[in-house]
Amino acid sequence: MKIIESFEHIKTPWISRLSKRFVSGEDLREDFEQSLREFFHYIKQALETGDSAWLDTVLDDWVHSRTQSDLEDKQSSLTPIVNQIMLETSDVAQEFLDADDALALNSALLPIFFYSSEYVSRQETAMHIDHIAKELEKANATLESLDKNKSDFIAIAAHELKTPLTLIEGYAAMLRDQVSNVGELNQVRLLLKGIDNGTLRLREIINDMIDVSLIDNNLLSLNFQPVWLNRLLKVISDEHLGVIQDRQLEFEIVQFPGISEMTFGDEERLYQAFRNLISNSIKYTPDYGTITIHGRKLPGFVEVTIADSGIGIDPEDHSRIFEKFGRIGSVSLHSSGKTKYKGGGPGLGLPITKGILEAHGGAIWVESPGYDEENCPGSTFHVLLPIRKVPPDSKTAKLFHPLIDQEEIEGT
Ligand code: ADP
Repeated sequence: MKIIESFEHIKTPWISRLSKRFVSGEDLREDFEQSLREFFHYIKQALETGDSAWLDTVLDDWVHSRTQSDLEDKQSSLTPIVNQIMLETSDVAQEFLDADDALALNSALLPIFFYSSEYVSRQETAMHIDHIAKELEKANATLESLDKNKSDFIAIAAHELKTPLTLIEGYAAMLRDQVSNVGELNQVRLLLKGIDNGTLRLREIINDMIDVSLIDNNLLSLNFQPVWLNRLLKVISDEHLGVIQDRQLEFEIVQFPGISEMTFGDEERLYQAFRNLISNSIKYTPDYGTITIHGRKLPGFVEVTIADSGIGIDPEDHSRIFEKFGRIGSVSLHSSGKTKYKGGGPGLGLPITKGILEAHGGAIWVESPGYDEENCPGSTFHVLLPIRKVPPDSKTAKLFHPLIDQEEIEGT
């Protein structure tokens, strides 16, 4: 018997055997038998033409009819079903054909079934990858919206806190005026000082929240002007003289090459960044410790290091401290304060510092052997800042033209 005839000969038992094998309910059986008839038809076409690609359409239909839960269930796959159809076909052929015809038919069907199995598995893998990519996209979108919500919340909360704060500041100022008229009321003055300190701290926190939200949304705009690092660092160190003396700290700014060079930057923002680093170094160094500001000039950059002999930072926290609210759980904080030993803060200082330095095209990182309050291994913060001889925008460049020329003459 010819191969096509043999195949036609087993059609009816083949369909009935497979439908019994794979489907239990009568109502579903009819649909399945219809698919099998279609499959049979395309296998026959493949046998006649020698081209297994005839099966692509029906196999595509099978693969794409899979449901979402099929895709999520990694165990469920069509490939073993195709393999089982191949085995059943071989059984039916042996049962309903004589041995030679069965052997001839099975040999002719073998490459077609292998093709089908391989095709189904390839399509399924592509669908799984597609499904995973879509799930990832969804997860990313959720994450992005969460991050945006958080950032929106910070901006709104900061804005909303500002109004009542301004009211408290205003009334406290009015009260102060009244008190100075009355004269003696020392007790009231003391209370007023308390309100002043509280409002000042609250304003700092609100400003930090606003800065974080500006940085998060890439809205931090820099106001470029000439900056001299030595002057900036001196102003900050002078501001801290009181606490340095009180806490008997040894504080030194080493005059390294590059420290006195003019560079264009946002003076106010750079002051804020270095003040955060210096007040942290004071805050996390016990009394009688040392803080040294050093650095070096590199091609196109200046590197400033702020080294302290404080409690140190575990290597695993070296990047976390630059993230929002990245306070470290292991550090036991004493009180809220800018420079008190281990005085806690909201954990926004370093992310803001990083945002400011990165907006300047710079970078920041920390080196520390680890966190140890007994032995105080210390921490060194490194700041890399590009030296800009010309401001980035033409308007500022025009404004500072004479100064730039002067620098060029001095530089040559
Ligand atoms: P905070 O307001 O808590 O000081 P920061 O963002 O300035 O927030 O710092 C984040 C955390 O990094 C701090 O809570 C502290 O644990 C750690 N840290 C920062 N600077 C130092 C330092 N010089 N030595 C030790 N730990 C530090």
